[in-house]
Amino acid sequence: MTAVKTNLPRRKFDAVIVGAGGAGMRCSLQLAEAGLNVAVLSKVFPTRSHTVAAQGGIGASLGNMSEDNWYWHMFDTVKGSDYLGDQDAIEFMCREAPKVVYELEHFGMPFDRNPDGTIYQRPFGGHTANFGEKPVQRACAAADRTGHALLHTLYQRNVRARTQFFVEWMALDIIRNAEGDVVGVTALEMETGEIMILEAKVTVFATGGAGRIWAASTNAFINTGDGMGMAARAGLPLEDMEFWQFHPTGVAGAGVLVTEGVRGEGGILLNSNGERFMERYAPTLKDLAPRDFVSRSMDQEIKEGRGCGPNKDHVLLKLDHLGADTIMKRLPSIREIAIKFANVDPIKEPIPVVPTIHYQMGGIPTNFYGQVVAPKTPGGAQEVVNGMYAIGECACVSVHGANRLGTNSLLDLVVFGRAAGNHIVSQNFKTQSHRDLPADASDFTMERINKLMNSTSGERTQDVANGIRAKMQYHCGVFRTTELMNEGVKVINELAEQADKIFIKDKSKVFNTALVEALELANLKETAKATMVSAAAREESRGAHAHRDFPERDDDKWMKHSLWYSEGNRLDYKAVNTKPLTVETFQPKKRTF
Ligand SMILES: Cc1cc2nc3c(=O)[nH]c(=O)nc-3n(C[C@H](O)[C@H](O)[C@H](O)COP(=O)(O)OP(=O)(O)OC[C@H]3O[C@@H](n4cnc5c(N)ncnc54)[C@H](O)[C@@H]3O)c2cc1C
Repeated sequence: MTAVKTNLPRRKFDAVIVGAGGAGMRCSLQLAEAGLNVAVLSKVFPTRSHTVAAQGGIGASLGNMSEDNWYWHMFDTVKGSDYLGDQDAIEFMCREAPKVVYELEHFGMPFDRNPDGTIYQRPFGGHTANFGEKPVQRACAAADRTGHALLHTLYQRNVRARTQFFVEWMALDIIRNAEGDVVGVTALEMETGEIMILEAKVTVFATGGAGRIWAASTNAFINTGDGMGMAARAGLPLEDMEFWQFHPTGVAGAGVLVTEGVRGEGGILLNSNGERFMERYAPTLKDLAPRDFVSRSMDQEIKEGRGCGPNKDHVLLKLDHLGADTIMKRLPSIREIAIKFANVDPIKEPIPVVPTIHYQMGGIPTNFYGQVVAPKTPGGAQEVVNGMYAIGECACVSVHGANRLGTNSLLDLVVFGRAAGNHIVSQNFKTQSHRDLPADASDFTMERINKLMNSTSGERTQDVANGIRAKMQYHCGVFRTTELMNEGVKVINELAEQADKIFIKDKSKVFNTALVEALELANLKETAKATMVSAAAREESRGAHAHRDFPERDDDKWMKHSLWYSEGNRLDYKAVNTKPLTVETFQPKKRTF
């Protein structure tokens, strides 16, 4: 075996999973129950992962409220993705959906019920029956705390299955050997400041999204894009990073999410004239058109002077007509959020809302077993990266394409978390030995840590991070232009250079949050660059990427996934998989609702 130069402590596992959100814990459950020795790392206690904040629901065509069908769900997802989603993965997800939801029910997840005992389902944006004909109720919900119920259920099952949790451990870098195989990660134990090598036969990334590269975001503060940063530094590309979803209803000024379930339950959007303006933009689905569509319509109303409030900078979400009983039963947390963050009681008054960054459609490229698949160099063949999987929001399968449908992310977590788990189990890792660690396994990480710990002058982390957030918001917002984005690329590159020269004052080992934030900035930086560069290059409007200078979708030139590489800050592209597994391709059409 090759000698490892450093004397860092090392531990060996069959599998290391980075991230204890819905995706990580659905995967770890599968592995632990199959008897694998599995470690799950998380920056925070598992049940504080961002999945806990998911409100509205998880999509599955159970047909509990009226007739529904996985094929209709597939159609809605393909159309919602503006035809950029891979149709093999979408078919797989929509077919699996009822199975994984019933499985959660049997795990003890406390779903809301219908009087006949079946799982309650509410309407959601873009969910339709019979290929867009009329809305259908497909979102399985546990009040407006679906993610909370999901995450706690999965955590309890994992404790029972003896999954080993490493709480307040931060993964720092991927370790790859000379062949490019992934053999583990380096990680920081925040409490002691120890750096350790975690060797694994298989490493699974489930680090969630990077919503914190933006100034106004519904995301948790820990969502700094660590998985994307680590992948980018290890030479892996990031796919479709130009596509970020703005959620139509973030509380104005606060960013906190008000679930689409509010509109699902009958809430409506009004402009300053008291007009239900979505009737003009989307005559069939109205307030429940997909999110990119509603966000742009709201932005348009505000730009044309029909915004509300003294600055005419938001619109209103009215739900008092639903009645106090429905609000208290189905949307109790929303009422609390409105009272705390907007100072209005929605039983009596409307909530002020604006489009707010919510979800990244792009991420680390994978197939539908969760295996990371990437060309070794730009333009090279697509190859499975041995020993590495990615699942959940940090991965790009791609089922969401250019725009995700509400409730399809929680579904993505459990479908692909489970599928990756099953695929790993089928590889019989138990009987295989670990691949050798390269001699320089931890050099890169230690150089980064030492540079920060020995810094005597330089930039302040928060200044650079806030600079990135403000500039991303300005140059890459709901509507984008060539000029704004080209300028944005320059500005973000400059900020990224500053991010390489951070000074941290606190040199202590124990709970050094200054060090953690500086390490997070290194990840924010990669994600922001990937987003800005990929967005500036895409000369069309598709899904969440709305380009003023190229207002139409251009299937001839742009029906392709982008792949961004950190090295050289350059782009490559790959074809969209338009061939489903068993059914016929849904051909691209103009999206109207
Ligand atoms: C407010 C809100 C409401 C939402 N509502 C819905 C909804 O109703 N329906 C729906 O389908 N989707 C919803 N979404 C989207 C969905 O919740 C997320 O996409 C999903 O929960 C992400 O899950 P995940 O498992 O990929 O990551 P997360 O739940 O974000 O977990 C990431 C994990 O990775 C860990 N981690 C990150 N970096 C590191 C590191 N360097 N080292 C160690 N650990 C690390 C974190 O500690 C955490 O445990 C919502 C999102 C938000 C923000």
